[in-house]
Parts: sequence; structure tokens; C-alpha cells
Amino acid sequence: MFPLFNSPISQFLNYPMLVDLVTIFPDFFRGPLDYGILRRAREVGLVEVSIHDLREFTRDRHRTVDDRPFGGGEGMVLKPEPIFECIEKLGIAPREERVAGRARESVILLSAQGRRLDQALAQELAVLERIVLICGRYEGVDERVSEHLADREVSIGDYVLSGGELGAAVIVDTVTRLIPGAVGNENSTRQESFTGQASETSAEREEPGCARTIPSSTCSSGGLLDYPHYTRPSDFRGMTVPEVLVNGNHDEIRRWRRKTALEKTLRNRPDLLDPATLSEEDKKLLAQVTGNKI
Ligand code: SAM
Repeated sequence: MFPLFNSPISQFLNYPMLVDLVTIFPDFFRGPLDYGILRRAREVGLVEVSIHDLREFTRDRHRTVDDRPFGGGEGMVLKPEPIFECIEKLGIAPREERVAGRARESVILLSAQGRRLDQALAQELAVLERIVLICGRYEGVDERVSEHLADREVSIGDYVLSGGELGAAVIVDTVTRLIPGAVGNENSTRQESFTGQASETSAEREEPGCARTIPSSTCSSGGLLDYPHYTRPSDFRGMTVPEVLVNGNHDEIRRWRRKTALEKTLRNRPDLLDPATLSEEDKKLLAQVTGNKI
């Protein structure tokens, strides 16, 4: 086990996590996976990424991966045979076992019609041993891949991309940073936007390194957006850092951060406020933000 691993979750995970990318553009991934946290996670053996060129699994002279849609209509559709052959060669657990949650593996089809990626889904994926990401192109992928091969269909947002590669890179990035040891300071992934519910906050307050080194209510966003961050210089072209952040009063900083997180969530993502479990203090801060009495 790597010495970096100090989270309880790491005790039942095998490393590296295997990531297989199935694509007709293997070179696409030169770059997105080669920087920062992802690069480091690969270098220290937390994640092992393999890229599979779908054309290697074709049998005709032209290495054909697509064909016209049955029923007519625009564009081309990725054929099922190369995709099935590629996944079968990887030795992945049968679909029934993956669907039933008996295998710590998942075959994910990138699709605008899929379940929308969020932090909860990323956390679900981060405890698996292997994820396979199938990148669609053209008008999409023959539906039999979704029905009989993949166990998840995932969208990265309500818009249409030209291909699944960008989506796959987004998933790999999001999942990798949740693997214990991938981000230098694990507390930082607990404090981020969308992370944890308010009810978890008090438990996290007890954690060393969370409660003692920084104002405690920031140890989880409680499902809200993150609070604003500032760094030096404290005065940049007359734009100054909020006074509260430089006065050293940790309780005031904690309250300010929580209030600004609530304010930003209300302004940019009011939909997140409803499912978040707000403490009595949160409700008072929210009332200050909205100007309402509670
Ligand atoms: N005809 C499809 C539709 O309307 O839903 C769009 C196909 S899109 C041009 C080609 C491929 O890009 C898809 O098969 C999928 O792999 C990928 N893709 C497009 N939008 C995506 C999204 N929001 N999330 C994940 N993958 C997406």
C-alpha cells in the first residue's frame, strides 16, 4: 500500500484503478491525461490508463467502424461488432454481474442521453477497480451496445458534443481526483463544491487536519458550491481581499465562507439549496443573504 493512503476507503481498494478508453481517435488523449493530478496519479501507479483503437477490432480492408442507420436519416452510426469485440478482449465481468453490482467494474457508454455526471456518480465510480469508457462519434452508437454491453450510459451535461472523448477525459479527471492519494491534501477534495451533505460536516469536524488546521465548517461544502478563494496580493489594482480573511479570526472566517457559499449557490445554482441539509446557522446566514427574516 502506498504511504500516501491514509483514508479508510483505501483499505478495500486495489490499485491501480484500471481505465480503458475505447475510441476511434486514440491520439485525442495525448494531452488531457498528461498534466497535473492525472499525470501524477498515473506516475505513482494509482491509475493505469489504456487506450484502445476501435479500428483495430475491424475485419475489413477499410477498417470500417460505422454504417448507415436502419430506417434512414442523417449521418452514420458506430457499428456494434468492433465495440463488442474490443470489450470482450478486455476480459471484463459479464454485464449481469456489473448491473447487479457484484463486479467492481463498469462499462460506460458516453452519451448525451445518459445519466448526468455529478459528484455522487464520480464517487460511485471512484471505488471501482476498473472502468471502461466507450466514446461514441457521428450520430451515436448502435443501441445494442447500451442494451447488452454497457452497464451505464453517462452524459457530462445537457448539450451535444461531437464525440465521447472529451466526456471520457472529464470522467477520468473527476474520478481520479477522488482516489485517495491522488490529490496532495485529501481534505481539499472534501471541501469542494457539491461534496458531502451538511449532516456529514459535523463528523468531518472531528477529523484531525480538517478541524484543527482550517475553519471547520469548510471541511465539506454540504452539497453547496464552494466558497470564494483569494490569494496574494491583498490589494490588486484597488481590488481588495475581504477584510475578514486577513484578520485571523477563524470563527469569523468560517462563518464568512459558509455565508458566501450559500450566497453563490443561491445566485448560480439555487437548485442545490433544496436537497442540501442546512444547519440552523446556515438558515440564519441564508436569511441574511436574502434579507428575509426567519
Ligand atoms: N445523436 C446523438 C443525440 O442526439 O443524443 C448525439 C451524438 S453525438 C454527435 C456523438 C457522440 O458524442 C455520442 O455518441 C456520445 O458518445 C458523445 N456525446 C455527445 N454529447 C455528449 C454528452 N453530453 N455527454 C457525453 N457524451 C456525449
